[in-house]
Amino acid sequence: MGDAIRFVEVAPRDGFQNWPEPVSTEVKERLVRDLLEAGVEMVEATSFVSPQWVPQMADAEELMGRLGPEPQARLRVLVPNRRGLERALAVGAQTVVVNVGATDGFNHKNLNRSVTETLEEIGAICAAAGSVGVEVVGSLSVAWGCPYDGPVSRERALEVADALLQAGCARLSIADTIGVAQPAAVGYLCREAVVRFGEDRIAVHFHDTRGLGVANVLAALEAGVREFEGSIGGIGGCPFAPRSTGNVCSEDLLHMLELMGHASGASVPRLLEIAGRLAEELGRPLPGKLYKAGLEPWAATA
Ligand code: MG
Repeated sequence: MGDAIRFVEVAPRDGFQNWPEPVSTEVKERLVRDLLEAGVEMVEATSFVSPQWVPQMADAEELMGRLGPEPQARLRVLVPNRRGLERALAVGAQTVVVNVGATDGFNHKNLNRSVTETLEEIGAICAAAGSVGVEVVGSLSVAWGCPYDGPVSRERALEVADALLQAGCARLSIADTIGVAQPAAVGYLCREAVVRFGEDRIAVHFHDTRGLGVANVLAALEAGVREFEGSIGGIGGCPFAPRSTGNVCSEDLLHMLELMGHASGASVPRLLEIAGRLAEELGRPLPGKLYKAGLEPWAATA
């Protein structure tokens, strides 16, 4: 057996935030509950962003209220600013995610601030969260490339990653937000990130925009990363909008890791059932492969 890995499911937030049709709070609540019952260690449930920016997340308070206090230790929520943190704390969030891009171009477009200004806001969020015992995860967007500023060097990505930890984040999620990473570049950055920051503080978040999502997971694994994020069914972005495709598929990546001897605690057969039902509820096939093909019982294992 290989090392156990940690898995974070992001579909309820990252998968639904750009979904082209409204997704009901009932569907979101059932998905979160089913993911937790399937053994997923941590679920990113929602985002406390302004509903004017992201209407799909307008039910953040309602969803957290329905889920109640019991699962909070295994939930995390995105907060874009101190106002978002206040809202998250008011409904009992125990872990929050903050986000900064590696480039000024990305930060200006998405947050209307420079990297430096975003890091200042994150420092204030970390101080406020820390004072009430809430853990902050720092998400580093466009770590391999940016749609506005182009390629991102390893040194630049590591510099902003280090700044997130200095600002008070307990851990990091390094994200290939637009799906431009490839396995050699993933290994190059992740090997150094693991050395500098420690494998217990690093996660990776890949997109399958150009078909390299699972390959990049493998490259990160070989570089020593042991925490991975994914989205059930591969949902995320709009599957019908050119250049806006999904997160790497949870069950596809967990299936690969399990065949290689790296278990996460989540049940892959159960995730396949959840993905199949979600496709029915959303009314269209999802990008994931395994829920359509099914498991092969005699598939080669490690
Ligand atoms: Mg994503």
